[in-house]
Order: sequence, then structure tokens, then C-alpha cells
Amino acid sequence: MPKKATKLEIEAIKELFLENYPDSVTELHYTNAYELLIAVMLSAQCTDKRVNLITPALFAAYPRVYDLAKANLDDIKTLIGTCSFFNNKAKNLITMANQIADSYDGKIPLTQKELVKLAGVGQKTANVVMLEYTGANLMAVDTHVFRVAHRLGLSNAKTAKKTEEELSKKFKTDLHRLHQAMVLFGRYRCKAINPLCEDCFLKSYCKSKGRFKV
Ligand code: SF4
Repeated sequence: MPKKATKLEIEAIKELFLENYPDSVTELHYTNAYELLIAVMLSAQCTDKRVNLITPALFAAYPRVYDLAKANLDDIKTLIGTCSFFNNKAKNLITMANQIADSYDGKIPLTQKELVKLAGVGQKTANVVMLEYTGANLMAVDTHVFRVAHRLGLSNAKTAKKTEEELSKKFKTDLHRLHQAMVLFGRYRCKAINPLCEDCFLKSYCKSKGRFKV
């Protein structure tokens, strides 16, 4: 288990993330809150690249919540068939659209409390939508954020939820920017296999230097 980062190290790591990733946003393609919610739901256990290949046809066929609410389940399954867990995701998409059509006048509710009431929307999905769309001061922990947080000694927690709590407590502010930074850093630099440690801007704070797999 790696050592924990000190308070001073946490501050330095935070500054370096913000400096190196000043304007990061999600790599998912969307044009409004409805499309973002769908893309984030599809991205669970699936890559953003894959989701971006799937969503253009899906958004074209079902441009509004009301269209998706009336969709045929098999048609949705066909459109998202290359996505992991597409059976469940297809069901959830239609149920989610019906909930929004019935209870929210067709508008995506933009509070964490309301979002998690929707089918297929857990806290992580809700947080990603909120922080990306509204800039809310929220953290969300996916596989990349989890790995980076552990390698840097920012958390030793076993679960994503606990890691999210620890990161929120330690970083306190700019959580939306830090989330985006950690996702991109984990995806392209601090990779699960063969991380690019040599020229890593966080090398001096790292508790792992790629020596163990998280
Ligand atoms: S030194 Fe390597 S393992 Fe450590 S944070 Fe940088 S890329 Fe990740």
C-alpha cells in the first residue's frame, strides 16, 4: 500500500493538475444536457471513444426526451449494441426518458438529488453530468481517477465512493476541474499499464512510479 500524501503535497498536486489541465472538459460529444446525460449513462464500463461512435445515430433518431420515451426497446438495443451492458442500458434509457417526460416536463433535472432518482443514474453519473454541465464543485471517481488517486497517495480507499469522499475533502475546491484533469491524466499519461513516468510532472510526489498496478 502506498504512503499517504501530506497536506503540502496535496496542495502541490492540486496546483500542478490545475496548471497542466487549465480548461479540460469531457471527451464525450454532446450539444445539450439530454445528450450529455445519455452519453454519460452509456459510458459506464465503456470507453468514451466507443460512446462517441454510437451516439450520433442515437441522437439523430431520438433528438428529444419525448422521442426516446416512446422508443422501441429492440431499436435502442440495436443502436447501442456495441456498448457494454447494452441490454440494461437500453431499458434504462427508455425508463429515464419516461421519468423525465412525466415528472420534469421533459427537462433534465440538474441537481444531484433529482438525477439519482432516474433509472440507470447512480451518484457517479449524476456527478459527472453536474460537474461537466454546470461546473458544480463535485468529484466523480472512474477507473482513471481511482488509479491516479491511489498512485499519488491521495487515497487508500477500497471503493470509488470512499475515494470520491476523500478527494472532495482533501481538494475542497475546483473539484470539477480536478476531476477532468485526473481523467485525462489517467487516460493518456498515468495509464494502467506502462504509465509515462519518465517525464511526469507529478513524479516527485508519486508514491508508486508505476511500480504497482491499481
Ligand atoms: S510517476 Fe508514473 S505512476 Fe506516478 S503519477 Fe506519474 S505517470 Fe503515474
